[in-house]
Amino acid sequence: MSKVINVAIDGPAGAGKSTISRAAAAKLGFIYIDTGALYRTVGVNALRQGADVKNASAVVSTLTDELNIELKFIDGEQRMFLNGEDVSVDIRTPEASMAASAVSAVPEVRKYLFDLQKNLAQNNNCIMDGRDIGTVVLPDADVKIFLTASPEARAKRRHLELTEKGMNTTYEEVLADMVERDYNDSHRAVAPLKQADDAVLADTSELDLQQSIELIISIIEGKI
Ligand code: C5P
Repeated sequence: MSKVINVAIDGPAGAGKSTISRAAAAKLGFIYIDTGALYRTVGVNALRQGADVKNASAVVSTLTDELNIELKFIDGEQRMFLNGEDVSVDIRTPEASMAASAVSAVPEVRKYLFDLQKNLAQNNNCIMDGRDIGTVVLPDADVKIFLTASPEARAKRRHLELTEKGMNTTYEEVLADMVERDYNDSHRAVAPLKQADDAVLADTSELDLQQSIELIISIIEGKI
């Protein structure tokens, strides 16, 4: 088989990574892998087990042999399964976001999810998005993009997305959560969010969705 192509897209919460990556992957005929969903699933499991997600050893104790986290593609869409149950919707609540951010700072959690991510990339042309894909998971990716936007632009988009889903939150709450998650993600000791030296910076603050997708596709096509 010829060499697979891996595209790594990292950036802070709400930069539009998943929407943009999904659209770009569809255009290029690649699969799209959302690694945040893996951390969210670990977070939801920890919450369900009643663990204090801010306590690393409590989180580690939820990574038992019985824990079964699966990522499946159904009709081309990634779905997350926790012990056989489809939790793809449950992992999108604000509580799940905060839990994901907390558990993702635990080295054992990152180690637990590492091979799964690596294996998916080894076998598929893919766009994988997350926080440490270009720096840690796929340091040899063919294309690396750091996708960002101002906190206000990101909070505005995320607030709209949540209200459209019927979730009851204010812009201020979303902005505060976002700033807290940005801080956690970029200050943790393991695999902090940072731009890889060889990543292309893409700032979408002033771009609409279509323009952002076009920008990302043109960066990828320019490199492969
Ligand atoms: O991308 P998303 O917002 O769904 O990610 C949820 C949380 O998972 C992030 O706040 C981040 O803490 C964590 N994460 C991570 N590494 C990744 C992807 C997500 O630490 N590769």
